Amino acid sequence: MAETFDAVVVGAGISGTATAYHLKKGGMKRVLLLDREAGVANGPTRDSAAVVRMHYSEPVLVRAALDSREMFRNMKTMLGKDGGFKERGWFLALPPGMVPAAQRNIDMQRTLGLDARILPKSEFAQMTPWMNPEGVGGVVYEPGSGYADPVQTTEAFAHALQQLGGEIRTRAACRTLIRHGDRVVAVELDDETIHAGTVVNAAGPWSKYLAATIGLDMELRAVREQDAIWEVPKSRPMPACSFSTAIEAAYCRALGDGRFILGLGYPKEYHDVDPYNYKRTMDDDFRMVAFDKNVKRLPNLQGAKLLSSYASLYDITPDFYPYVGPREGISGYAEFCGGSGHGFKIAPGLSQKLARWILDGRTDKEFAGLSYDRIAKGKRYGGLGGNRG
Ligand SMILES: Cc1cc2nc3c(=O)[nH]c(=O)nc-3n(C[C@H](O)[C@H](O)[C@H](O)COP(=O)(O)OP(=O)(O)OC[C@H]3O[C@@H](n4cnc5c(N)ncnc54)[C@H](O)[C@@H]3O)c2cc1C
Repeated sequence: MAETFDAVVVGAGISGTATAYHLKKGGMKRVLLLDREAGVANGPTRDSAAVVRMHYSEPVLVRAALDSREMFRNMKTMLGKDGGFKERGWFLALPPGMVPAAQRNIDMQRTLGLDARILPKSEFAQMTPWMNPEGVGGVVYEPGSGYADPVQTTEAFAHALQQLGGEIRTRAACRTLIRHGDRVVAVELDDETIHAGTVVNAAGPWSKYLAATIGLDMELRAVREQDAIWEVPKSRPMPACSFSTAIEAAYCRALGDGRFILGLGYPKEYHDVDPYNYKRTMDDDFRMVAFDKNVKRLPNLQGAKLLSSYASLYDITPDFYPYVGPREGISGYAEFCGGSGHGFKIAPGLSQKLARWILDGRTDKEFAGLSYDRIAKGKRYGGLGGNRG
């Protein structure tokens, strides 16, 4: 006889794993988390730079980032395992023209309880001695931000889910969802059908294919995203935190032991790929461009040694805001995908609110705005995921 769960969550990246945990924690009896890979965090979550910062221009994401940070800070107590969060601060170098908009964002963020400010020249010269100050109009500073370990974080949620009695099955690909009329009732694996009160589609860049199995459209791009890890002699001053520059559109995230992840920020070119079949190694031109942009701002990178590199995937929505929540007109189904390249840091907070929405059958207006329904109704948020304002 087919098994029945109250919720089946498809996709054990950070979004699905944290959602499964919060559903179980919120009182749901039988919760099953599925992934087709061999363990949790084996998709793009594994490759995340996992920068944890709060700088968004829409309150809904600032709140999600703040809620998440509380969880990053208290993960050991909350989940029984640590997520590797290092509260080392976050700096964002701005050209003079971007300072007023960043200040408006910060004014809003401060009303929500965030400690953030723009450092003037007199201060950033002292606080960011590793940065070339040429052309910098101001530096956004969030002292309580930092970075986490994306695999450890996801494993911590998986551990807590299992401790509470939730189930995880890996190497378990969901082939189709099953829908009866306006209700999703089950998921089909290779050799079994599992009935579900609710199915959560958290399949990252593959979510749109899963949605299509029940006739739902989803505007979602899969684009290649590259990062490279470089080693710098330890004697050279470098940021021990996460540092972004909006002037060059690049970032550098400390890994410890003189190692740094270098990547490109917004704006940049996005190359759409087939998420089932894409090149996973770095392109030479990425290596040069990402290094050149970073070394302009962080001159101590000069002569750094390339240690490793990779290409992964971003799942990008039309407005760079994630899809979180049920859709109108279809029951027993919710989505959590479309992290758009910044979804790690907000996933713990968003998953808690999504779980509440599923458990209570309702949510607040602000959070409901993250449902895919906004796209279906032609409504979009402005900006690139509210990353910069
Ligand atoms: C290089 C890189 C750097 C990044 N840096 C940052 C950063 O600094 N800060 C930040 O906040 N965000 C960052 N991001 C974005 C962030 O990592 C992602 O938004 C987030 O990890 C997405 O998690 P997810 O759980 O939604 O999806 P995924 O990690 O894509 O997980 C989806 C899971 O679904 C599984 N799956 C798919 N289809 C099926 C199926 N049919 N059946 C069963 N399982 C299935 C996959 O195997 C996968 O494990 C970065 C991303 C990349 C690639």
